[in-house]
Amino acid sequence: NLAIGEGELLGYLYSKGVRFHGLRTLDRDIVKMVCEKYNVEVLDVDPMKVEEMAKKKEIFDEDDLDKLKERPPVITIMGHVDHGKTTLLDYIRKSKVAASEAGGITQGIGAYKVQVPFDGKSLPCIFLDTPGHEAFGAMRARGARVTDIAVIVVAADDGIRPQTNEAIAHAKAAGVPIVIAINKIDKDGASPDRVMQELSSIGLMPEEWGGDIPMVKISALRGENIDDLLETIMLVAELQELKANPDRTAKGTVIEAGLDKSKGPVATFIVQNGTLRTGDIVVCGEAVGKVRALFDDRGIRVDEAGPSIPVQVIGLNNVPLAGDEFEVVSSLDIAREKAEARAEALREEHIAAKAGEGKITLSSLASAVSAGMEGLDLHQLNIILKVDVQGSIEAVRQALEVLPQNNVSLKFLLQAAGDVSASDVDLALASKAIILGFNVKAPGSVKKYAENKGAEIRLYRVIYELIDDVRSAMEGLLDPIE
Ligand code: GDP
Repeated sequence: NLAIGEGELLGYLYSKGVRFHGLRTLDRDIVKMVCEKYNVEVLDVDPMKVEEMAKKKEIFDEDDLDKLKERPPVITIMGHVDHGKTTLLDYIRKSKVAASEAGGITQGIGAYKVQVPFDGKSLPCIFLDTPGHEAFGAMRARGARVTDIAVIVVAADDGIRPQTNEAIAHAKAAGVPIVIAINKIDKDGASPDRVMQELSSIGLMPEEWGGDIPMVKISALRGENIDDLLETIMLVAELQELKANPDRTAKGTVIEAGLDKSKGPVATFIVQNGTLRTGDIVVCGEAVGKVRALFDDRGIRVDEAGPSIPVQVIGLNNVPLAGDEFEVVSSLDIAREKAEARAEALREEHIAAKAGEGKITLSSLASAVSAGMEGLDLHQLNIILKVDVQGSIEAVRQALEVLPQNNVSLKFLLQAAGDVSASDVDLALASKAIILGFNVKAPGSVKKYAENKGAEIRLYRVIYELIDDVRSAMEGLLDPIE
């Protein structure tokens, strides 16, 4: 409760350029600003963050809590095509994996480990090998959360592009901290300052300018400032206090899987808690097996893998899917039981999704509002907005933002130009959002994917109709037949 008069508060907000169009819900950043000004502690209760924290907790049991030890960070590199993700991943891999060590060349198991000098020590750091937000979004849509930090690459000669926006939206929605790598600073026409300007205009304020987003200017091609980037990553990791209990049976996530001609089904696991050993019995997704052999990222046989460490596992009876969870159990019978239960749960989930149960739609929002918000756990409608041209983004967004938000507030997870993609659907699924399209299409395969998984895509040709549907839904008046 702020002991400040309404007039004073409004005056202060006015002086900061905050304008009111009727009743509106205050932006989190504005609330923070007010709290700082009046010296009030902010309890950050972003519903999305709470959800992510709850997920994180699921990894640990009560017993783990007093046995937690530090673990290495797991990094995903994202960004627009051609901005240098692969070049950066390759440079880090080549320069940081000492060639003199046995099997110095990494094997492409989907992730690799490098040693980073930090704080007088040499600390491990894990990079996922499939760059891009598509893989990140797909894993999240399946409920997996392996990434601790997102490095978003932006080319200094190109600036923010559609996939930069998408990558930022995915990282933000997952509550994963962002480090910006401003790449290609060696090029003619590179303007890191312009990139920083653009980023700050979409709410990512560089640390250098007093904000909280670390940005490092690099040349992935020449290897310039990569050490700075790695150090920055380690700093962010340190703040996150990443922990796990190595003294227990392992569980974690599959990040890659396939069929190898000589080895049979192979899968790369990232251990998220505990330690995985040869001889362990695992269930992962619908596959089961006894771990016959473990290989590290250099193709070397190892006996065990602790928290955050990627290992390739041989011995499964089937090929699991990236994003499947794995866990060590005490017998093959239990493993089979769990795999069967999981298959059954998936079938039910599929049927429920097809029937539209638990689906976030404008109509379900409308019925919840008209029923006095019953059954509505989020008083917030998460929106992914796709439009035909960059220029329409602000027009549509502003028209939506001025709608009265007394019952339900609107939150834009992503606003971008372009047709609706599978990765938009993944974002919608992982963050309980609806997709609104204006003058764009959704390819048949994307529509089908959304339908099967239970995400709503609404496409409009007339802006007035789009606004009207959202307004009616927020007021509980939308015709449920739609
Ligand atoms: P990705 O699509 O994001 O993985 O981008 P790539 O890593 O494939 O890079 C796209 C192109 O940009 C390639 O031709 C790279 O050689 C080039 N490139 C990447 N980083 C740099 C850099 O720091 N400087 C310059 N001049 N070119 C770069």
